[in-house]
Amino acid sequence: MQIIDLRLPACYNVAELYTGLAYPVNLPRYPLRINVGFLLNQPVGTRRDIHFVFPDLRLSPDLEVTDFSGVVQITRMVQGMFVEFSCTANTGLECVRCLAPYNQALATSFQEVYAFRRDQVTESGLLVPEDGNIDLAPLVNEYMQLEIPIKPLCRPDCKGLCVECGADLNTETCEHQKSIRVSP
Ligand SMILES: [Zn+2]
Ligand SMILES: [Zn+2]
Repeated sequence: MQIIDLRLPACYNVAELYTGLAYPVNLPRYPLRINVGFLLNQPVGTRRDIHFVFPDLRLSPDLEVTDFSGVVQITRMVQGMFVEFSCTANTGLECVRCLAPYNQALATSFQEVYAFRRDQVTESGLLVPEDGNIDLAPLVNEYMQLEIPIKPLCRPDCKGLCVECGADLNTETCEHQKSIRVSP
């Protein structure tokens, strides 16, 4: 006879399905949505960790990432859910010096409280929705956008393009560079 462990409610297992490992092809519509209902009846201080792994993830219309890997730790507090999130991912950018596309590594983390009641919200104004589904995507997008460099560089020492002929100076040396070097 199989004994079913009821200490981990079914909805927690549903959250695990969101990891993308189970569904690498069909990304859920709300990949970073977590139902925290299972924590509501748990004692204050109860914590759950949920891991996310997605090969591709569109965080917003203007931010798509690859190799997304993150973990959220949710702790049931008196006045709400304490959410600690951290993740790493890559995103495709264009180098401002050589104009070549490259993969920029991004990493971010944040802590927020999602309050149970409107009169208990913190500065961020976050509330646990009535249906218990916290969608982390808008916040993750906000934090990840802040990590995108204002002047993206394919590498810190990118030599850029020759202003005369457009040669990629990372891979070639054109006559203009030589003349600059020999000129007094
Ligand atoms: Zn470059
Ligand atoms: Zn040149």
